[in-house]
Amino acid sequence: MNKKILFLLLFLGLHFFADAQINIDIDKNRWKPYYTDASPSAIAVNWFLPFEVADRKDIKQLKIISIFGDHRDSFLKGHMHTAIDVNPLKPASKLIPVYAMAKGIVCSVHLGENQQTVVLKHQLKDGQVIFSSYKHLKEVYVRQGQQVDEKTKIARLFTVQESKKYGGDYHHLHLEIRRRFDDYGCASWLTMNKKELDLRFFNPLVFLKEKLKV
Ligand SMILES: [Zn+2]
Repeated sequence: MNKKILFLLLFLGLHFFADAQINIDIDKNRWKPYYTDASPSAIAVNWFLPFEVADRKDIKQLKIISIFGDHRDSFLKGHMHTAIDVNPLKPASKLIPVYAMAKGIVCSVHLGENQQTVVLKHQLKDGQVIFSSYKHLKEVYVRQGQQVDEKTKIARLFTVQESKKYGGDYHHLHLEIRRRFDDYGCASWLTMNKKELDLRFFNPLVFLKEKLKV
């Protein structure tokens, strides 16, 4: 075999090996230290949009930039979009604050820079425990273990100008509703198929439309 082909095969082999090594089960241990296991002190009955808009119960006041289940080529090529990307339809101010959507507790603050993320744990009326996750936060105002409600300002978004430093695609809220958080956050960029998507995530738009009615 000529040398060039041998190197090419070696390169492809290593590449495959590297890709195969990245998965939720392995990566989750990196993110576990950012998780605090605590319970919310109140049940999340009443849900609201995460933004300061005229009516926080009106789903139409969300501007949807990207939908749940979309194809993504960032980080691990071909992963699925586990969230909806949103902004307020009419921002009330230049710096856009993000609010908790319901009563809950901060269980994780992880990542930094353009990916900074806050995760809230909520207990529903039927006893189910779920999570809401807010990503691409420029400033975070809460800490692990803090009880929150819909009036708690948890963070603020990037401005268009601040987003440019990272390529310009971060001035929105990546908003997830999760059935579980056993991956400690990495499923947000390592979910590769519909089965994994449905295992951990709700379609946030469907979830919110239902919950905002209450
Ligand atoms: Zn997103």
